[in-house]
Formats: sequence, C-alpha cells, structure tokens
Amino acid sequence: MRLRLPRAVFVLSLCFGVAELAGAARPSFAQIPEPNASATSLATQSNPETLLLDGRDAGRGIMQSRMTIPVSPGPFTLVYPQWVPGEHGPTGPLGNISQLKMSAGGRSLAWLRDQVDLYAFHVDVPAGVSSLDVSYTVLLNGAGDVMSTRNVAIVNWNRVLLYQQNTNSHAVFFRPSIILPNGWSYGTALSNPRQSGSRVDFGEVPLNMLVDSPLDCGRYYKHVQLWRNGNAVQMLDAFADKPQDLDFPADIIGKYHHMVPQALALYGARHWYDYHALLTLSDAIGFQGIEHHQSSDNRAPDDFMTKPNEQLAGGDLITHEFSHSWNGKYRRPVDLIQPNFQLPEHTELLWVYEGMNQYLGDLLSFRTGIRQPKKYPEYLATVYASMDYEPGRATEPLIDTATGAPYLYQERGEYPEIRRTAGDFYTEGELIWLDVDTTIREMSGGKKSLDTFLHAYAGPPETGPITVPYTREQIEGLLDGVVHYDWHAFFQREVYEVTPHPPTSALQRAGWRIVYNGKPNEFMTARDALEHGIDAWYSLGLTFTSDGTVRGVREYSPAWNARMAPGMKVAAVDGQSFSSDVLDYALKTGQHAGAPIQLLAEQNGYYATYAVNYHGGPKFPHLVRIPGRPDMLAQIMAASSR
Ligand SMILES: [Zn+2]
Repeated sequence: MRLRLPRAVFVLSLCFGVAELAGAARPSFAQIPEPNASATSLATQSNPETLLLDGRDAGRGIMQSRMTIPVSPGPFTLVYPQWVPGEHGPTGPLGNISQLKMSAGGRSLAWLRDQVDLYAFHVDVPAGVSSLDVSYTVLLNGAGDVMSTRNVAIVNWNRVLLYQQNTNSHAVFFRPSIILPNGWSYGTALSNPRQSGSRVDFGEVPLNMLVDSPLDCGRYYKHVQLWRNGNAVQMLDAFADKPQDLDFPADIIGKYHHMVPQALALYGARHWYDYHALLTLSDAIGFQGIEHHQSSDNRAPDDFMTKPNEQLAGGDLITHEFSHSWNGKYRRPVDLIQPNFQLPEHTELLWVYEGMNQYLGDLLSFRTGIRQPKKYPEYLATVYASMDYEPGRATEPLIDTATGAPYLYQERGEYPEIRRTAGDFYTEGELIWLDVDTTIREMSGGKKSLDTFLHAYAGPPETGPITVPYTREQIEGLLDGVVHYDWHAFFQREVYEVTPHPPTSALQRAGWRIVYNGKPNEFMTARDALEHGIDAWYSLGLTFTSDGTVRGVREYSPAWNARMAPGMKVAAVDGQSFSSDVLDYALKTGQHAGAPIQLLAEQNGYYATYAVNYHGGPKFPHLVRIPGRPDMLAQIMAASSR
C-alpha cells in the first residue's frame, strides 16, 4: 500500500439500521469456534463457486453479485473476507453488503449473522441440496472509500463474494464473470478471459488469486504496453473520469517504459508472467495504491498523468506497487501469511515490507526518470524533517506503529504527530533502508549495495507468482552475507527502541547534511499546490488548508505555546485577511519585530486572538553537500545501465 502523507482527515458519519427477516424460521446456532482453515473446500476446480458480478449500475454506485456456492446439507456457514492483503487490516467493508438473499432450488432460505464473528452468516441447508444461490447488492461508495463514478469502477473481488468458512483460500475455486456497462473496457491480471458482448468470463481461479487480481473498468480508457519480452508483458491499463486526462504527454509516459528494466536490474529476476498496472484517474476516487502479485490497483487524481507537479509529488505510486510484486508478494513476512481472510495478520515486520518498499518505490521513481534523480536530496530533506519534528517519537518506538498498523491505518483523528501513525514506518523506513544501503556501499568500498542484497532476497531464479516467507532473523542473515555487520543491533536500535531522532548517519555517509532556511522546499510546494495546503510547520508549527483552517499544530511549537488547536479557522494575520501571501509577509517581517505574530481565529463559534511568539522567518528543510565527501545519493538514484 502507498499512502499520501500527510493523510487527509475524513469525517465519518455512521447510521444504523435493523434488517428484518420475514417469513422463514430463523436458524439458531451455538457459539462457533474461532476461525481456522481446517474445513475441506466444497468449491473445487471441477466444481467451482460461480460468481457473476453485474456491473451495469456501477455509474450509480451499485453492483449485483450472484453466486452459486457448493454446500452440504445441515448447518453451513459462509463468510465475507475481513482481513484484506495489502490493506494490512480488518478492512473488509461489511457495511457495503445489502439485500443478502440465499435460496436453494428456488426456495428462499433464512440466514443469520453470527453474534461474535460479524463477518459470518449461518444457514440451514435442506437435505438433498448441494449448492446455494446467494446474491447481494454491493454498495460501492462510502465516506472516504469511493470505488465507482459515472465513468470508472474498481472491482476488488473480496468485496463482492462470500465463501465457505474455515477453508484454505488456495483450495477454494471460483469461476468469476462480470457484465460491464455498455461500451466499457476493462483491465485485470485474471487469466483466460472470454468476452461476449458486455459479459466477460474468466477461467477457474483459487480464491487467494482472485482476491489478488482486481479489475478496473471504465468508459474512457487507454491500454499502453510498457514492456514486452517474448510472451511476458507489462501493461498500463488506465481509466479516467475525463477523456482528456488520457492524453499522456510523451515525456511523462515515456519514463514508465523504464520500470521493468530498472526493476529487473534492482532485483535480478521477475516472479510474474504478465503484469497489469491498473490506474484510475479520478478526483472522486482519490489517491491510493494496493499491491498485487501480477497487478496493482493504483488510484490517482484526474491530472496525475498529465501534470508534472503530480509526478513530482506522487511519482512513486506505480513504482511502489510494482516493487511490491517482489517485496511483499513474492517475499513476505511469515506472520503476514494466513490461510484465509478471516484470520488476523500479524504486522510487526511491515517495517521491512512497507518500510523498505517506500525506499525502493522512491528509488525506482528516480532511476526510471519519472522523477529527476537530481531532485532526490530535496525530497529526502522533507522525509527526514517530518520524522525529526515528530514529538510522538520521544515515547513510542517505530515498531509500535507497525504492530498497531491494522488499527493505526484507520485512524483519522487530530495530532497524528503525537500519536504516531502507520505512515511512520513508511517515512522513517526510507531513512532506515537508506542507512542500510549506504552502510553496505561504504563497508564494501562501493562494490556492493542494497541491490546486492535484493538479488539474494528476491532475485533469481525466475518463478511464477509464488510466495516465499521470511523472518527478521533471515533478513539480518541475508544482509550479513552481503557485508558482515551487527544488523540485529542496528535494527534493534532504529526500529525497536525509542530514538530521539531519525538516523542521521545515512545523510552524512552519503555526503549531505540537513539545513533549514527561508527558501521553499520544491516537494512541499508541489504537494501544497495539489492539496490546497499552506505549510508553516517548521516555523510557527502550523499547517493550513488554503482557507485558513488549521490542519495540524506541532507540539511545543510557537503556535502550540500560544494554545492554538487543529480545526481553528484563522481569519486574519496581524490584522490582515488570511492568505498564503499575508502569512508569508508576517513571517518575514516578524524576523525584525519584537512583537508576536497575531492570529485572529474562530473556534466553535468563538473568536480569539493568539499571540504567536516566533521570529525565525519562513523555514523549510533542504539537504546541502558536505564538502569533500562523495555524493552517494547521486550514485544511488542514477539509472542502472543493465
Ligand atoms: Zn506499500
């Protein structure tokens, strides 16, 4: 998964309803045991569960799912996937199921939700019945979770199916089909498609691969072959709300053709047959990325592929998810592998899975030229500064953000810098793995690098999409094979213990140091332009939306000391109406004034003036070269010539 940081704050409004089940007697069941994978799947390759997804109402946020599920007579339980791979949490959107119906031979059957496991539905299967007809309406769009618009839809199959409880997802076979809206095209890694009119039927596929193979579809589309070698191909399947957003400039799309060659140079071999980078271009759907083994579900704003600023700010979206095919899908922490989607994932090693991938996704975005390699130091300055100015790190080690990820991913509240969030093991992960990379380069005299480790970790021999698990000890052992070093102590210090600052050793080793001055940071400027934000984080300790609403207040900053809070709306700065320019003027003149900056702000209907005692001027992070030291960052981000 790829997060855009800082995260947007969503307001969730919840409403509750009670569904009455009329008619048939309700089944009753004793308390069921915890989910496991001990049951034999009745849905086999020769007798699969069929799933027909009618997507013709996608434009108004609805699809109809109709399943024929092999069953046996007596008490039977169907489940809705709860733990979603790549989302690293119990995020199956249970509230999106509506109008659930079960029947056998045309006779309606009553179902009952389990009282403890809310993702389980019980039914009494009559004697002589070997399959159930099950259907429900899929509600595609919720607050902060939009999966369809008038012109585009994303199908994550885990959201549109039920399956037999306690089975192993490798052994539950499906035969999926979809009916598309008229004239729409689609992209997916599912194999053996047969299209007839608007209906597409796919070959039999085990549940784990079905869930790992999302499908994007839309009215306006562009299928770009990015790379081919023999029968192996990499596609970009793009779907846009507006047709003009598919007019990709040659200098932008051209860089994406370098993804496979650069990734193969990085890892040494591939573990996929065909790869589909699925991409929605829709402001309504927003920014998100979910990795899969032979595809990725990339979601970006309308102008992502047409505006250079978007590429600068978020150009690692597709490269990050592509890298996950190796790091996360082929190689995966053993505790993240579960036999089905009802069993909890243990997320401690996300500091490798996501932390290293944040570094590698960025690295590929620079090596491909999607982002210019010479801009990496400016980018890295924002990464370092954001972690160094985070008060929560004084009490909480990074590992806790990984262990708590299943719930921390969902957090939407205020003060993420005090609480720390799941975003931290991405951001600080980049610094830690840069530290690893530069350590290897220094200790080997430039002969080896993290690339050397990656060849041993996820390189040859070439395979299909299989998963090879790892432990922390195995990662440390592989690194020790590259250069002999106490990697266990290193990760213990940087990941498992409280550290007052993120690692600075990598910057020094690479020939750079961090400075703060009044010159705006190029990445922060691009991000603020896209998100309509104003950044005074390293000066006043505030971030704003463009209308003056305070997004964040940094603990112990001048604004914090003046008792400012998130959600306040600043109306005036030193008596002048709030704007980015007025704020900038106040910061500059405040350097030479004795008086505090006066912010007039509204909070819950009350106005008050806050005297912010700050005289340091505008302040933004940058990296500058340490004279006499080689520039290791330039070496790392240079395109591989292999
Ligand atoms: Zn990721």
